[in-house]
Amino acid sequence: MIITITLNPAIDVSYQSHHFQLNKVQRVANGSKTAGGKGLNVSRVLKQLGCEPLCTGFLGGHSGSWIKSRLNQEGLDHSFIEINEETRTCLAIIDNQYGTQTELLEEGPFITIAEKDKFLSEFSKMLEKAKLITASGSLPKGIPLDIYSEISEMANASNVPFILDTSGKALEYGIQGRPFLIKPNKEELCQYVGKQELTMDEMIDAAKKICETGVQYVLVSLGKEGALLVGHDTVLLAEIPEIPVINPVGSGDSMLAGMAYALKNQYDFKTCLKWACACGMSNAMEAKTGEIHLHKVQELLTKIDVTVL
Ligand code: ATP
Repeated sequence: MIITITLNPAIDVSYQSHHFQLNKVQRVANGSKTAGGKGLNVSRVLKQLGCEPLCTGFLGGHSGSWIKSRLNQEGLDHSFIEINEETRTCLAIIDNQYGTQTELLEEGPFITIAEKDKFLSEFSKMLEKAKLITASGSLPKGIPLDIYSEISEMANASNVPFILDTSGKALEYGIQGRPFLIKPNKEELCQYVGKQELTMDEMIDAAKKICETGVQYVLVSLGKEGALLVGHDTVLLAEIPEIPVINPVGSGDSMLAGMAYALKNQYDFKTCLKWACACGMSNAMEAKTGEIHLHKVQELLTKIDVTVL
């Protein structure tokens, strides 16, 4: 079983507007509502790859119940810790005329120490059945910055690979728990090392330094430029072909799912990197976030070149 952790899920509401103006009343068609959160996207893609992931994290209030009912409809297993405060709602206003997207992201509920402890205790039980763990996204209020480090140490103690996709302080602290793999994009890696820009050599150096701290692999996603997989004695570069992109949002989550699926199947690292890229690419070719098509993934796998650097 693969467990996906989403500590700060959201109801994502998106409105289409045709002339969005500040300080005006706008009439819009009903918004589309989805169960959002990076880890939920990872789960959706894993399911499309034929896995049966278990989603966990925190959910509360009516929003939390709504997310659970949507996951049920999507056939995704879940075991969330019930919290006292309401799960957040995030709003996107998409203007097709101006080509703009305005987002309002709530910071989310406050998690109490008791709720956090309950999560860790439930998680330690889930670990007994887990083959691999992924954790994605930001931390809700009240959650200590080193939570991903603690989760990673628990996974390491049970010999279960832990894959972490987060940024900023949560990444900085998370790395200290020696995750099996982290997946920053280029911007997140730049932020981690405190630089505006990084060349390919500098990215490899930065990733190697992270590996020296005990992380086994760093997967740097580079959007349309492909990806880099760096380990203690491995540097692999995936070069990808140009594709017709429709919506690349969630490609990082899809990449994580592809990597988790390939690792679970014990493919070699070149093949794992190809699966990760192919799933990210397939998602970029769809309008819906967290959607891939297996036949497209299979086709893309044959078009990705992986070079040993
Ligand atoms: P997000 O935060 O939206 O989930 P990310 O920044 O974490 O994304 P990206 O580097 O944008 O992740 O994308 C992950 C992978 O998806 C890339 O390594 C690549 O394989 C594929 N991908 C993303 N965007 C494109 C694109 N425009 N063209 C081709 N492939 C893409």
